[in-house]
Amino acid sequence: MTVRTRVAPSPTGDPHVGTAYIALFNLAFAKQHGGEFILRIEDTDQVRSTAESEQAILDSLRWLGIEWSEGPDVGGQHGPYRQSERGDIYQQHVQQLLDKGHAFKCYRTTEELDTLRNEKQASGSSVALKPSDLLLSAEVVAEREAAGAPFVVRMMVPEEGVCVVNDMLRGPIELDWSQVDAQVLMKSDGMPTYHLANVVDDHLMQITHVIRGEEWISSAPKHRLLYQYFGWDMPQLCHMPLLRNPDKSKLSKRKNPTSIMFYERMGFMPEAVLNYLGRMGWSMPDEREQFTLADMIAHFDIQRVSLGGPVFDVEKMRWLNSVWLRQLSHDDFAQRYTAWGLTGPRLKPLIPHLLPRVEVFSDVAPLAQHFLGGLLPLTAEQFEHKAFDDEKMQLTLQFGLWQLEDIRHWQRDEIEGRLFALAQQLELKVRDFLYPFFMAIAGTSSTISVLDSMVLLGPDMTRARIRNALMLFPEMGKKRLKKVEKDYQLHAQAIQQKLAETKAE
Ligand code: GLU
Repeated sequence: MTVRTRVAPSPTGDPHVGTAYIALFNLAFAKQHGGEFILRIEDTDQVRSTAESEQAILDSLRWLGIEWSEGPDVGGQHGPYRQSERGDIYQQHVQQLLDKGHAFKCYRTTEELDTLRNEKQASGSSVALKPSDLLLSAEVVAEREAAGAPFVVRMMVPEEGVCVVNDMLRGPIELDWSQVDAQVLMKSDGMPTYHLANVVDDHLMQITHVIRGEEWISSAPKHRLLYQYFGWDMPQLCHMPLLRNPDKSKLSKRKNPTSIMFYERMGFMPEAVLNYLGRMGWSMPDEREQFTLADMIAHFDIQRVSLGGPVFDVEKMRWLNSVWLRQLSHDDFAQRYTAWGLTGPRLKPLIPHLLPRVEVFSDVAPLAQHFLGGLLPLTAEQFEHKAFDDEKMQLTLQFGLWQLEDIRHWQRDEIEGRLFALAQQLELKVRDFLYPFFMAIAGTSSTISVLDSMVLLGPDMTRARIRNALMLFPEMGKKRLKKVEKDYQLHAQAIQQKLAETKAE
């Protein structure tokens, strides 16, 4: 048997370091066994998936040095490798389950589902919706079918009992069937859900080991049952511990930049980032801290993964990067720094913003230096301005940050719409309102538009710089933070409403 593993990212945002971490462990496991590692794009969520996100995932994994032998861009024998192109395959498989009575068409309306859930909650029982809750009489089904009512396909699941799934790191895990929903397998628009597509694809792509984040453990019973319904062998499961912030909470972009591109922009070396990710819950048998991908593959043993939540600590990664960086020859340093710097493809998007403001090339550096830096050295004096007292300055930055954290599509319109609406809420002239953002993002207001800078720098760098500026202000105690959050909610609601109105116009 050839070992085959995969990483299966959903292209719904910036390429996440967690995706790279899971990809790395799948790659190391497959290669260690002389097997294959493949990449599949799970874009069944058509509303949230974007082509740009898919491209950014592929580019950033490649930047790290992660290569796959089959995937949407390189092809392979088991394609297509993008789930949105495999609709017919899922239809056929859903039909098989319906024919065998392992799944049913569910005509329940949203209101009925809400009522069912509320009833369950009120009765204090598990909130999982079971087939027995959902099935309608044959007459009602016929009526709704005749009326052309929308339906989803759900899987049959046992009402109770214990499901045991084996995990390569944890051994047998017992999960309670009563907690497991009659999972939707196909949505009313005919698109499969993650669970169906994932199982069908892992089987058809001959995946032997599924190494993924531990947030998927609770899905394992449904998957096991689907394999059983289809009469297929189930791949071995291995759930990796989730990456954590230094305070041990789940790694989130609110506390730490999570986009791989952010670390590229900060000027980390890909070898060092990959090395650091390899240290997340794993260590070399001789405990050495610096190792290459080839070293990791040669010594890889999945049983050495420890389940305590690995902490993704940017300071430690910086240190490891410094070890790698200092080993570069001067020629390599020069070559790498030039490739990373403000040249070629990185310079081009800036040119339209620079041209109206420069007369000679030496005018470029002072205008554009914030595109080369990481977190800027800032002083409290930079945040003094006649329109603000210290408190208002802090709140403006904090509220701005919270607005920016909510943006899904990092586009100028969206950034501008939210920030200008916030300026109005705070009763500040736009010009004054933007001042602290100029300081946080560029360190000066004598530069290109700060909104354009935000677009060009990307969400993670923008947010990290605002967070960095907020460090100049006294940390808010719990009580004050609560009050500030409450005030913010009122502003946020007003902003939402305003944006909805503008969109409707
Ligand atoms: N598309 C899922 C994700 O984004 C894949 C989970 C799995 O590996 O089964 O994490």
